[in-house]
Amino acid sequence: MRRAACPGSFDPVTNGHIDIITRASGLFDEVVVAVGVNKSKNRLFSADERIDMLREACSGFDNVRVDGFQGLLTTFCQEQGIHAIVKGLRAVSDFDYELQMAQMNSSLTDVETVFVPTSPEYSFLASSLVKEVATFGGDVSGLVPGFVNERLTARLAELRAAGEG
Ligand code: ADP
Repeated sequence: MRRAACPGSFDPVTNGHIDIITRASGLFDEVVVAVGVNKSKNRLFSADERIDMLREACSGFDNVRVDGFQGLLTTFCQEQGIHAIVKGLRAVSDFDYELQMAQMNSSLTDVETVFVPTSPEYSFLASSLVKEVATFGGDVSGLVPGFVNERLTARLAELRAAGEG
């Protein structure tokens, strides 16, 4: 069984992530979307919320499952019998860091990293940018699934209300 991980923080999942997961699911027998749940102050959504949204987004694939991981990705891969990590490359600026990370990961275990070039329509898309645009009232409905857009709008409204209160 050829099993791969698609790792990330997915805060929140975007159409760019779904594109990479879709393509990975065609290349491998099984894909595990690995959601980093390490504590970080800068998350808009909790680990459970991020995992929930991904499960909904991936419900149409029968060879994709979603799981949280803590600590090293390579340890998670070893535990799960995963030998490949699939990463999307958006721009040259992604490459330096991703190459370093891929080389580090393969020196820690026998896991290979497979780079998939982003689809041109998503090359500018990152969760951080989606949050920034949505915070200032921009329309991100074409960049994330509809249910994610709703949760994003609701969360930003909650934060605004808390800030005003
Ligand atoms: P962000 O989306 O903010 O970069 P993530 O850590 O959630 O952060 O992204 C996880 C991984 O998903 C990235 O390392 C990258 O491999 C892939 N990815 C994210 N956005 C895109 C995109 N627009 N096109 C291709 N791959 C992407």
